[in-house]
Amino acid sequence: MIERIVVGSRNEKKKDELLRLVQPLGIKVLSLDDCPNALVVIEDGTTFAENAAKKASQQARHLGEWVLADDSGLCVDALGGAPGVLSAYYAGPNATDEQNNERLLEALRDVPDEKRTAHYVCHLALADPSGAVRLSCEETCSGRITRQPRGSHGFGYDPLFEIPEYRRTFGELGEPAKSVLSHRGRAMRTLLRQLRHLLAEEGHGEQKK
Ligand code: IMP
Repeated sequence: MIERIVVGSRNEKKKDELLRLVQPLGIKVLSLDDCPNALVVIEDGTTFAENAAKKASQQARHLGEWVLADDSGLCVDALGGAPGVLSAYYAGPNATDEQNNERLLEALRDVPDEKRTAHYVCHLALADPSGAVRLSCEETCSGRITRQPRGSHGFGYDPLFEIPEYRRTFGELGEPAKSVLSHRGRAMRTLLRQLRHLLAEEGHGEQKK
C-alpha cells in the first residue's frame, strides 16, 4: 500500500516543480526537507536513467519510503549533447546557474542561430521502500539557445532556452506554460498515468482508510 511519496530532490526550484506536478494524485507528498536523515546520493551515472534510478533506489531503501527522483539536464546539438548529465556542474563543481549560463553562451559564441538547437531531458524513477525501481519514464522538450538571457522565471538554463513556437524563453514564459510544455511536466504526466495503475494494484493509503 502506498501511504506517501518522498520527492527526492535537493534542488529547491526543481523540487517545487515536482511537488506541484504530483499534487493531482491526491496522495501525501513529502520532500527531503521532511526527512532529516536523508542520504546525499552521489550522481556519478553516465545517463539520466542511471542517475534517476540511483537517486530513487538508494534513498528509498535508506528511508524505507517510496521515493520519486528526477535526473534532468540540457543537451545542446552543437556541443555533441553537452552539458547533458553534467548540466548542474557545467562551469565547475559549485557553479551557479548564472556561471553555467555564461559558459554555455561562451561555448556557443560562434554558432549561428539555425544551429543553436537543444533539448531538455527529464528522467523520473519511482522506487519502493525496498529500493526496487517500480516505475520510470523519460521525456524531452525541444528548443533553441538564445544569445543572451531573457526573463526571470524558472531556474538553471531557462533564461536561455527558447521555445521556437512562442519565441519566448522559459524564463519569460513562467510556470503555467512551463508545466505544460517542459520535459519535467511531460515526464510527470506520463509517470502519473503509470502511477494510477500502480495505485490500483497496490492500494492507496487514503482510499483504504
Ligand atoms: P540534476 O539535479 O543532476 O538533475 O541537474 C539538473 C540540472 O540540469 C540543473 O541544475 C539545471 O542546470 C539543468 N536543468 C534541468 N532541468 C532544468 C529546467 O527545467 N530548467 C533549467 N535547467 C534545468
